[in-house]
Amino acid sequence: MESLVVVGNGMAGVACLEQILKHSPKFRVTVFGDETHVNYNRILLSSVLAGERSPEDITINSLEWYQQNGVGLRLGVRIVDVDAKRRNITGDDGSVTPFDRLLIATGSSAFLPPITGLDKQNVFTFRNLDDTRAILSSARAGAKAVVIGGGLLGLESARGLQVQGCEVTVIHLMDTLMNMQLDPTGGLYLKAAMEQLGVRVLLGRVTQRLLGNGRVEGLEFANGELLEADLVVIAAGIRPNVDLGRKAGLEVNRAIVVNDHMETSDPRIFAVGECVEHNGVVYGLVAPLLEQGKVLAATITGNKGPVFLGWKPAAKLKVMGVDVFSAGEFQETPETETVRCEDPALGVYKKLLIRNNRLAGVVLVGEAGDSNRYMEWLRTDADLLVRRRNLLFPEPAADRGESVADMAHGETVCGCMGVTKGQIIGAIHDRGVNTLAQLKECTRASTGCGSCTAVCQELLRAVAPDFQEETKKLLCKCVPFTQENLREIIQSQRLKSVQQVLDIYGNGTGCEICKPALSYLVDVVWCGDHEEDRSARFINDRVHANIQRDGTFSVVPRMRGGVTSPAELRRIADVAEKYEVKMVKVTGSQRIDLLGVRKSDLPKIWADLGMPSGQAYTKGVRMVKTCVGTEFCRFGTQDAIGTGVELERRLENLYTPHKTKMGVVGCPRNCAEATVKDIGLVGQEGSWQVVVGGAAGKHVRKADLLITVRTTDEALDAAMLFFQYYREHANYLERTYDFVERYGIEKVRKETVYAPEAQKKALLQRLQKSKTLSRDAWLERDAPMNPTQFVQIQPMESLVQ
Ligand SMILES: Cc1cc2nc3c(=O)[nH]c(=O)nc-3n(C[C@H](O)[C@H](O)[C@H](O)COP(=O)(O)OP(=O)(O)OC[C@H]3O[C@@H](n4cnc5c(N)ncnc54)[C@H](O)[C@@H]3O)c2cc1C
Ligand code: SF4
Repeated sequence: MESLVVVGNGMAGVACLEQILKHSPKFRVTVFGDETHVNYNRILLSSVLAGERSPEDITINSLEWYQQNGVGLRLGVRIVDVDAKRRNITGDDGSVTPFDRLLIATGSSAFLPPITGLDKQNVFTFRNLDDTRAILSSARAGAKAVVIGGGLLGLESARGLQVQGCEVTVIHLMDTLMNMQLDPTGGLYLKAAMEQLGVRVLLGRVTQRLLGNGRVEGLEFANGELLEADLVVIAAGIRPNVDLGRKAGLEVNRAIVVNDHMETSDPRIFAVGECVEHNGVVYGLVAPLLEQGKVLAATITGNKGPVFLGWKPAAKLKVMGVDVFSAGEFQETPETETVRCEDPALGVYKKLLIRNNRLAGVVLVGEAGDSNRYMEWLRTDADLLVRRRNLLFPEPAADRGESVADMAHGETVCGCMGVTKGQIIGAIHDRGVNTLAQLKECTRASTGCGSCTAVCQELLRAVAPDFQEETKKLLCKCVPFTQENLREIIQSQRLKSVQQVLDIYGNGTGCEICKPALSYLVDVVWCGDHEEDRSARFINDRVHANIQRDGTFSVVPRMRGGVTSPAELRRIADVAEKYEVKMVKVTGSQRIDLLGVRKSDLPKIWADLGMPSGQAYTKGVRMVKTCVGTEFCRFGTQDAIGTGVELERRLENLYTPHKTKMGVVGCPRNCAEATVKDIGLVGQEGSWQVVVGGAAGKHVRKADLLITVRTTDEALDAAMLFFQYYREHANYLERTYDFVERYGIEKVRKETVYAPEAQKKALLQRLQKSKTLSRDAWLERDAPMNPTQFVQIQPMESLVQ
């Protein structure tokens, strides 16, 4: 069996190898990679930097994949030499490996511009996982971060740093951001959008020197201006890694030259990815590289036939709320006609360049929903004569959001991974794909920038037999509406009780499924100003205690932040003895549980305890677990106890779609496990990370970073914004971890912490209204409500700016 050695364990090399394995197992394969990680999705490094994904989330091929396919893997070994005559390669570990065929897939490296002082501490490039980890370890709230380079990578890293709480400035050499893809007007719109996000942009600046004694402290520009910096990220472009090509004696221009069959000048040596040049073009995007891989796989396995004929350049910015797409040409020429639309108030700029009735290029800023349509026109060189009236605004029937039926079979849906409509339909029909997750796994569609997710879902909905039911789940047979529908109905029809909803929209009686859900919906829509029907609640809510296996109940008094007092402990002990409680147990949530209580004793126990209900039985705020933080711990950087107590005080007694557990820790050692809670606050030196959607039960999930903020007030605000947003948008019985995954953390961020001020204010006001009308269940239960008995509600005016 012949040996095939692959140098470069990156996206193009391994994708090509996957295709080779599909053709035939005729090679003994060994892959060398100088990174220490298995193959991962480099596109998603921006989302790792922005805290949306963990490094594990972006793995493409796990170790098992290599093992199962009999692929030898050598990680952390850099190949430093190629002997084309003797047919062997040499690693930096001294190893010499012979090959029958060699595949060079070494990608690119970050370009370092001629700036003095690049070797200072806290100066990073942004190309791989190690870079990303290094940037993350230096990024902290309030740090002055400077990104050199206003291209795609620069802007994506700027956004990531901003989410980490840094004050970010982007420095760009040219007068237009993304000047390789945008005209000056498009650049201005993009600049305005970045500035609206809070990223400062300085154009036309030549950075000459990095200042600082050991660690970077600032930048000096050619015009003499100075700028302070605690960390600098260089994102000034890439350079193909062509050293091995040169050493092998291959023809190399800007990159290793290949023909349409992806052959180099040596018949035994092949190359793919960012390190190759085809027809004078070096591609820096995944889709054309995957296409190259398919062609090369055919060539290398003796099935020579398919050819690579080039790819229309296209770029999409992956910055939340800043839609930018550019493909083909973007500068007018004497032969091009321009079709343009601008709306400065909306921040929308669209420009099409037409030559001979065919699309020559497109620039979209502020709204890029039609990018696939334009990409398809470019790819197929479509004659636009009959579409001239609908170039910028498609006819409603052709609107991709409403119908995917009109899309051609060969039309590309996922631009990042080059997946067509036909391939998606093929996967649905041939491989029984029914869910988005299965589609991702099977075709890789929607695993890149994610902007095609809606179209993928649309296709699934249209073609997959079971998809409809999955997404449009009706509440139950008694009330055949989705929860989303019911919210609208309750609000628009001003329905204030469960019975009203059941009478008008249901069967009048309801069941154990719909009644608690409707109770919740009516409560949250009217912020507590509704007609409460306790009989519609779950049994636990009706008796305000958790029913146990033997029919007795458990009683958990509230101890905010897990803090109690000798007096409270004495009362708990007295109650336990007086009512012969079977067991007194400390729970995993830092609370005390009185187990084995008779139902008849419940009201008396509550009265004797004189403590509020811990609501350990309800779909509502359970508790805030805290570590000891700065108050007692020598590692503490933030006041975890005080903050946790305050968070619990602000949110206690409120109902949520499912139980809501929270945690606050004083430092990243995370002693109270805040990163696996529904809402967690993680203290750091001078800042807080607010994380959401974590879980550590049957389902384990590390919470996503919502935002990093400097002050405790800001952290509490962010937690409350998410809390209310979850209350208002999640389905009843949907935990935060499912909700955050379903919505996507970017959307959640955009509609909470990065929402316009008025929207945030409205969210907090609705939360405040609910809070004002909420009450401690144990006090409410017996006597008619007496407001003076209620737990003191912390005024929240200070939070609503
Ligand atoms: C942050 C970021 C965001 C991006 N976003 C997008 C996007 O949205 N859409 C898009 O299409 N593209 C995007 N790209 C570009 C895309 O990731 C690349 O085009 C693609 O990864 C190139 O694949 P490749 O295999 O040629 O190179 P790589 O993926 O870089 O793989 C090459 C591998 O070879 C290794 N290597 C190099 N030399 C040697 C040696 N001598 N010995 C051993 N190993 C070696 C490298 O360390 C690397 O692991 C992005 C890139 C980055 C960095
Ligand atoms: S998380 Fe940090 S501050 Fe809190 S107890 Fe642990 S080490 Fe101390």
